[in-house]
Amino acid sequence: MAEEVSIFPIGEKNTAFAQYFIGQSYLSVLTNQGVPVFNVTFEPGCRNNWHIHKAKSGGGQILLCTAGRGWYQEWGQEPRELHPGDVVNIPAGVKHWHGAACDSWFAHIAIEVPGEDTGAEWCEPVTDQEYDKLK
Ligand code: MN
Repeated sequence: MAEEVSIFPIGEKNTAFAQYFIGQSYLSVLTNQGVPVFNVTFEPGCRNNWHIHKAKSGGGQILLCTAGRGWYQEWGQEPRELHPGDVVNIPAGVKHWHGAACDSWFAHIAIEVPGEDTGAEWCEPVTDQEYDKLK
């Protein structure tokens, strides 16, 4: 069950970013003090669209995997399977996606690395054809 996925609060249904996700995700703002830190929870099969964390300098995103099983993939690279305890460093400017495995809930902490003129550029969805290759 979603409530048991992580020791951190699951938060609300992620309606603000729903247009950039396939499937249901949940978002909890853990802190906004200096460094924004979020708990993001994905139902099985849920993933975000390809996207880029943009910054003039610095920036990027760090994922701390806390529960379940998921995937991370950079554009043109093989997908990386994720488990609790895994850390993903995502440099600014790198196109990528992250989300749950097809048969498992998944949760990660997302740390937004401070930088100059930071923001996200959202791109195309991860198609079923791409996603269904993942086990
Ligand atoms: Mn990201």
